[in-house]
Amino acid sequence: MKKVMLIILDGLGDRPHPSLKYLTPLQAAEIPNMDLMASKGLLGMQYPIAPGVPPGSDTGHLSLFGYNLDEEYPGRGIFEALGEGITLRDGVAFRANFATVSERNGELIVEDRRAGRISGEDAEVLASEISRMSLLRGEVEAEFVHTLEHRGFLILRGDGLSSQVTDVDPHEVGYPVLEPLPIEEEAMKTARALKEFLIRSHEILKGHEVNRRRVKEGKPPANFILPRGASKPVNLERFGDRWGFKPAAVAAGPMYKGIARALGFEVHHPEGATGLPDSDFRGKIREALDLLGEFDFVYVHMKGTDVASHKKDPKLKVEVLERIDEALEQITDPPEDLLVVITGDHATPCLLGKHSGDPVPILFFGKGLPRDDASNFHELDASLGGAGWFLGGDLMKLILNYSDRSLEYGLRPLPRRRWYIPRREELTPLRI
Ligand code: ZN
Ligand code: ZN
Repeated sequence: MKKVMLIILDGLGDRPHPSLKYLTPLQAAEIPNMDLMASKGLLGMQYPIAPGVPPGSDTGHLSLFGYNLDEEYPGRGIFEALGEGITLRDGVAFRANFATVSERNGELIVEDRRAGRISGEDAEVLASEISRMSLLRGEVEAEFVHTLEHRGFLILRGDGLSSQVTDVDPHEVGYPVLEPLPIEEEAMKTARALKEFLIRSHEILKGHEVNRRRVKEGKPPANFILPRGASKPVNLERFGDRWGFKPAAVAAGPMYKGIARALGFEVHHPEGATGLPDSDFRGKIREALDLLGEFDFVYVHMKGTDVASHKKDPKLKVEVLERIDEALEQITDPPEDLLVVITGDHATPCLLGKHSGDPVPILFFGKGLPRDDASNFHELDASLGGAGWFLGGDLMKLILNYSDRSLEYGLRPLPRRRWYIPRREELTPLRI
């Protein structure tokens, strides 16, 4: 049986770009270590959710970790909250930014989704003004928790609340703030409470002296709370139980830590890991290798590739890939019992600057695996690779297979688990 290191390069997949002479960033980058692993390993292409469906980072990850999004996806807010160390026991949580809006013909137009990245005392003072609010004549209590800069969480508590409401955030500047609409009938009350919070908090914020001063100083006023990604507390099955691993995560971005925590990974955030293109990638791989002493599944998240893509900066993406490649030198000669898997949670083509439904290259590398003829880690070779094209939801089964852990189809030594060979301590011996 092998241990597993799953490295997710966020937004890895890409398209040919004119400023790279119509190469993809993976093709244009000098990545000798990834190429070496590709030439000795097995390449393929995976659609994290389904062909043509652009995943969010949360949904892309959950799907790759083998969770059924239609049945198990709790919404994004819960992961972001967990990543910030906020545990939600009841209620509905929204990720909620300070934003700048202006009034036009009775609509609120989003001018800046981050209110000029407001921070420090300004943000704290404004947050304290709206930190508690009683809504719907006391039926619902609202709490606003400020975290960093313009970011925070809005939590609604009360009976009969639902996370099935539409986003208030139009996700585009110049668009109007949207009315929260119930997606299911049980969400009527949540939508009404949310609307009341939005209007009342806007009243408080727009006239506040901090904002009047900000306007005088030429700064955007933080006059609106823009919620998105409603979610309820969840009890997701632990990753370790589902797939038979003892898992750890190496990540810096709050949401990725949140996903890992929600799934029961032990989360490690090495010093120097920033969740940005300047992160200490080498330190992350070193940490992951250390953790493999105690854990048999280590997930490593690198965000820099996606950040470069959102900036529509293919040259930065090439640079990030090259720095990551240097860090991967540490695993080009892995121990017998290590399976390395490198892929992304979705494609983020630099040309688009946003996530797309394109397939993402994937590399399986370790001793004793099947091989193929592909020799470079990029979209073209991966599309011809021996692992073929598959759905991200099947990744964990392939990982079990290549790490020699999969259970023959139809065997049932445990009532609930069906994919992996159980450990001795999981089995119930017949006592006589
Ligand atoms: Zn992502
Ligand atoms: Zn992204």
